[in-house]
Amino acid sequence: MSTTRVHNPCPHCGATGRRRMLRQLTPAVATGYYQCSDPECSAAWAAQTEITHMISESGKPNPRLAIPFRPAFRRSSHTPTAANDGDQNQAALAH
Ligand SMILES: [Zn+2]
Repeated sequence: MSTTRVHNPCPHCGATGRRRMLRQLTPAVATGYYQCSDPECSAAWAAQTEITHMISESGKPNPRLAIPFRPAFRRSSHTPTAANDGDQNQAALAH
């Protein structure tokens, strides 16, 4: 289940980093080990990935996980327009 096409540029030369290994520390935290694809650089580094919040609920939720849920977009039906705010500010200045 390895997906090595993860964009993680080399911190020194900016070339694409290739993930060599992924160590899953917890269900929400993993450390990836990367190597620079530029043979003249050939730097190697480790980077940690942490799931900070869920954007979409799982259909198979893990009861042991406590990851906060924050939808990506929240549309409000009650949004005042910028033009109205501007009019109110101008009216306040006039007084
Ligand atoms: Zn590099």
